Amino acid sequence: MDKQYRKAIIAGNWKMNKVASDVKIFADELVPLIKGFEGCCEVVVCTPFTSLTQSLCAFSGTGVCTGAQNMSQHSSGAYTGEISGTQLKDLGVEYVIIGHSERREYYGETDNSVNLKTKAALDNALVPIVCVGETLEQRETGITYDLISMQVKAALHGFENLPNLVIAYEPVWAIGTGKTATPEDAQSVCKFIREVVAGLYCNECARATSILYGGSMNDKNAAELLSQPDIDGGLIGGASLKPDSFAIIINAANG
Ligand code: PEP
Repeated sequence: MDKQYRKAIIAGNWKMNKVASDVKIFADELVPLIKGFEGCCEVVVCTPFTSLTQSLCAFSGTGVCTGAQNMSQHSSGAYTGEISGTQLKDLGVEYVIIGHSERREYYGETDNSVNLKTKAALDNALVPIVCVGETLEQRETGITYDLISMQVKAALHGFENLPNLVIAYEPVWAIGTGKTATPEDAQSVCKFIREVVAGLYCNECARATSILYGGSMNDKNAAELLSQPDIDGGLIGGASLKPDSFAIIINAANG
């Protein structure tokens, strides 16, 4: 299967949960449960900004990477309250979520800002996890595929060559709702995203791109979702907050 050409990635999105002193406790519980995952799937924990340093320390030497949940499109300057890619990179952060639906919905992020942030992340050698996905209304009106195509193309606008990024398909109606896309529906959209990438660049580029599913993935449904040929991993919110359920998902990704 083509999965051998790309990295499996399980990324936890802690959203605005936990405090810095929780991280070591979490890491100490998680790491023994996922022993032997090294070299199989990449594990990323995207903490709030306030816990990044603790995450980098707690997971040091374990192979678990640390990611941020957002960043500024600007590199420095008078942008009160913002955090730049340079600042994240300087800490040692490796991944950053860009364009999560909660950022799009509550903080006015647009396809254009997602594109600018993706560029800023890559300029700082951070791996962007670019989120795309339709709302329930968009799904019901039958525009899912058009919308996803538009979001992927907008995120990649201006890149002559396919950059080193991860795409996460996250149907908005499935995030934090307990409603998961069926494995068939999730597979169908992830396969479509790969076709869009192939159309923009080349088949080999698309084959090497990790595409994740996100939306109420948990310890019960992960194995089936992750066994789909075009689903290379998961972006996980709620279930990433508990070491035991997160570990089950990671171990499911490792087959
Ligand atoms: C997310 O925050 O990206 C997410 C998928 O959340 P949940 O797993 O809780 O639906």
